[in-house]
Amino acid sequence: MTASYAPPGQVVTRFAPSPTGRLHLGHAASALRAHDYARARGGRFLLRIEDIDPGRSRDAFVAGIEEDLRWLGLVPDGPVWRQSTRMDVYAEARERLRGSGLLYACFCTRADIAAAATAPHGPEGIVYPGTCRALPAEEVTRRLRDGCPHAWRLAVDRASGSAGPLTWHDEHVGTIRCDPKLFGDVVLARKEVPTSYHLAVTVDDAAQGVTDVVRGRDLFEATHVHRLLQALLGLPTPRYRHHPLTLDADGRRLAKRHGAPALAALREGGGDAETILVALRADIARSCSPSGDRATISAL
Ligand code: GLU
Repeated sequence: MTASYAPPGQVVTRFAPSPTGRLHLGHAASALRAHDYARARGGRFLLRIEDIDPGRSRDAFVAGIEEDLRWLGLVPDGPVWRQSTRMDVYAEARERLRGSGLLYACFCTRADIAAAATAPHGPEGIVYPGTCRALPAEEVTRRLRDGCPHAWRLAVDRASGSAGPLTWHDEHVGTIRCDPKLFGDVVLARKEVPTSYHLAVTVDDAAQGVTDVVRGRDLFEATHVHRLLQALLGLPTPRYRHHPLTLDADGRRLAKRHGAPALAALREGGGDAETILVALRADIARSCSPSGDRATISAL
């Protein structure tokens, strides 16, 4: 039941942005936390580009991420991994899960799912109502043979049952009982790519030997799914540190849609990387104090 969290040894952290836009101060704060956590322990800080979404990822944004990190002096160790080059590895993990009978093909469109109005909501929106879980085997075979577009979903009840009770550890919260059912039957392989965020991130954290996942609190719940996948795939469980999200002066999460300035814009406007790092580190320290539960960038 208990997991042996990352063994003693060199700390490895990673910053894992999706190249769908330019980085802003919230990204910088997250990268800085992962960077400083590793450096303070003589560990390694990795950069992984999560570009599994061919429709939204752009090479120009990958170059921008590397440029912004260089400007801030957050230099990653080792080669930069790109998830788009690892589709065969994810496909293999998917096939293993499929071979264990824990995945089922889902032919639903977004509209089909949205139309199931009674579906409850989970951390990622509507929880899939399980429509395709009930399809007769002959019908699934026919649709697959006919080439109908399909995703692969995890039968989360069955998977949780086969994994047994699990826990994971967050350095801020303590030991947590794994509850992946919050998300329902998540997609592990999309219609157009043989993976989803959940599968790729779990496989890669293990493949890169990440010992400490330092990332925003918005991904806290997703860790329930990742912990279950680690158990199913026989992968080690890192320690987790889900940090508070950086907020703007109005208390809103920094985001492009709320007008958060890109690091590139700050740089082009004459911003100084050292000043930004000092301000971010001060905000991070405040958010770590017993009274602070959020990081703001009011100092900038
Ligand atoms: N690629 C994810 C994002 O940009 C982060 C993944 C993670 O840190 O686990 O939101």
